[in-house]
Amino acid sequence: MAEIMVLGAGLGGTIMAYELQGVLRPGDRLTLIGQDSRYHFVPSNPWVAVGWRKRSDVEINLKAVMAKKGIEFIAQGAKRVHPAENRIELNDGSSLHYDYLVLATGPELAFDEIEGLGPDGFTQSICHIDHAEKAQAAFETFAENPSPIIIGAAQGASCFGPAYEYAFILDTELRRRKIRHKVPMTFVTSEPYIGHLGLDGVGDTKGILESQLRERHIKWITSAKVQKIEAGKMIVEEFGDDGAVKKAHELPFGFSMILPPFRGVPAVRGIEGLTNPRGFVLVDKHQRNQKFPNVFAIGVGVAIPPLGPTPVPVGVPKTGFMIESMVTATAHNIGALLKSETPHEEASLNAVCLADFGDRGVAFVAEPQIPPRNVNWSAKGHWVHFAKIGFEKYFMRKIRTGESEPFYERWIMEALGISRLARPR
Ligand code: FAD
Repeated sequence: MAEIMVLGAGLGGTIMAYELQGVLRPGDRLTLIGQDSRYHFVPSNPWVAVGWRKRSDVEINLKAVMAKKGIEFIAQGAKRVHPAENRIELNDGSSLHYDYLVLATGPELAFDEIEGLGPDGFTQSICHIDHAEKAQAAFETFAENPSPIIIGAAQGASCFGPAYEYAFILDTELRRRKIRHKVPMTFVTSEPYIGHLGLDGVGDTKGILESQLRERHIKWITSAKVQKIEAGKMIVEEFGDDGAVKKAHELPFGFSMILPPFRGVPAVRGIEGLTNPRGFVLVDKHQRNQKFPNVFAIGVGVAIPPLGPTPVPVGVPKTGFMIESMVTATAHNIGALLKSETPHEEASLNAVCLADFGDRGVAFVAEPQIPPRNVNWSAKGHWVHFAKIGFEKYFMRKIRTGESEPFYERWIMEALGISRLARPR
């Protein structure tokens, strides 16, 4: 009998628990550990931040769902993981022993790395439901007295799609309110070019996103490092390809949302051999840590090196499908270990993403993640807006029912030639 634990009950951790259920032997025990008992669908946060969704629309009570699935659920965060002792120390000081552990703790949002950044400073965030609600309230106040808006992603962010999404959603909402003409908008990003997305572009994301920004009168600054934010003022340095500062900007704003740098969570950061200097978990191609081989990791908390050097640090995004591919590989590999076999499955790490603009949107598929690719496709259209709504409903249903990969999803993805595993089953 083995104790298997998943730490982190977000997008990756919940479906990890569902997939692990399918590989357990009789008598093996599975436990999911989350910070609290409610799950929130992070990809809907840009909609929450303009009032198109409410918290209750994107919230699921995990206690009830996990009880129905027969998965032990502990709604209390971990203070520290002690991999040398196979032990998780919980916030209340108690400890749990594991035989296999999957880390699914997502990112810590490093607002403190830039003076004035974040909900406790002068900018908003959409990374957490609490932030998105706060951003929505700030946006309502702003709309009474419109002025410039700055949206973007800071140095070290490893998520760019939501920044574009939120900029275009705000543009749509401002036009609906007939106040867009009073709001100069600027997109500030650490990416070396528009549409890089941390993936060196996918299909023609450069062309599509540049033309969307132009069409919607949104100016942009790329290779941007946010130096400091004060009330109503952002200090930004723009870097050239030679790595030298090309221009310093002092940008006024009345409302701003900047995605922060990401780093690993405190429960795992600084553990020699487990995490890299930013606290992301080191894994091999089987999602397994080499120093602590009974520890696996999935999701945004996994260390993936940048695709190449850029004037300002740009992280690689981990999108939903990419995370699901890590989940499937991990479940197979832990299943193999439980049967005393050698783990051999690898995540395909294909990037499939839908970015909604409120009226239309952009979709892309990168397979594999690193160019040159077999599939390198992007497209825009009204259909993406509806596809994103479908994705939200579908994924929330998946969490509620505990079905990680229903047959129709597998069938559609396989019809498109997109597999979760590097070596298709
Ligand atoms: P999370 O979902 O963040 O889950 C991590 C969980 O671990 C959290 O619940 C956290 O509370 C918990 N945790 C952390 N520390 C501890 C601890 N010590 N003890 C216990 N629990 C802990 N991807 C797409 O494919 N499509 C999209 O449209 C999309 N939109 C996005 C929009 C936004 C605003 C953001 C930020 C990301 C988006 N992504 C999207 C990317 C990605 O799919 C999400 O970030 C996703 O939530 C990441 O899943 P995760 O499980 O790695 O992390």
